[in-house]
Amino acid sequence: MWNRNIETFLACDAEYADAGIVLFGAPFDGTASFRPGARFAPKAIRADSYGLETYSPYQDRDLTALRVFDGGDLELPFGSPQRVLAMIEDYVSRLLADGKWPLMMGGEHLVTLGAVRAVVKRHPGLHVLHLDAHADLRDDYLGERLSHATVMRRVWELVGDGRVTQIGIRSGEKREFDFARAHTHSCELDSRAVDLMLEKLAGQPVYISLDLDILDPSVLPGTGTPEPGGIRFNELLGVVTKLDRLHVVGGDVTELSPPYDPSGISTAAACKILREIFLIFT
Ligand code: MN
Ligand code: MN
Repeated sequence: MWNRNIETFLACDAEYADAGIVLFGAPFDGTASFRPGARFAPKAIRADSYGLETYSPYQDRDLTALRVFDGGDLELPFGSPQRVLAMIEDYVSRLLADGKWPLMMGGEHLVTLGAVRAVVKRHPGLHVLHLDAHADLRDDYLGERLSHATVMRRVWELVGDGRVTQIGIRSGEKREFDFARAHTHSCELDSRAVDLMLEKLAGQPVYISLDLDILDPSVLPGTGTPEPGGIRFNELLGVVTKLDRLHVVGGDVTELSPPYDPSGISTAAACKILREIFLIFT
């Protein structure tokens, strides 16, 4: 009759010791270059997840079959990207040492770097699958090397040449596109290209980093840096539901900005894609 008031993501009610997956929030938006607000995403996603069913008709799988522990949000110091990244790295390192699969809710995209620092130590030869509208390959942004506009450059420095695959990119400096041609892979969004990419990555440890602005702003307006010309929800769903073929060792969903989502449609899209990401692990 008497229950504690605990709001987790839908059906993520396992105890830590029993959990295979640990969900946690990294509510940081300190380097957002345009519209901040991603710090509010984890709480919005948890609250709105109750609008979903636990069952996915796309994958014929159900969240209730999973053991997920929702670890809540990290308490991050807003003024210091270095310390934020160190705290995320430490947290993810401990999850990996306990044999858990980390799934992080941003926050802005820079938080990915903290998680990848931990994951690459555990899984040398790591490949990062980066879904985004933006290349995020600048060497610095306004003189700062730690920014959501530089995050994939920093990730590339960790994992090495040819170990970042980008999908959905439609914005960046010419220099970023030149850099991408020389040092990363890019994958078109048609299903044959995706199948080929998945074949190439088979058996390798893969970290999935999803910047939600890959979706067209008509689908997901509630984000810090909306970029027209993006993909539709079902196209993203088509890619995500194929990722169960990969040896996925961690992942994140970033850049939802609830203050720019008054109708709630962006948060609904984020919740639904997160449910599908969970289910690639069943
Ligand atoms: Mn990004
Ligand atoms: Mn982006």
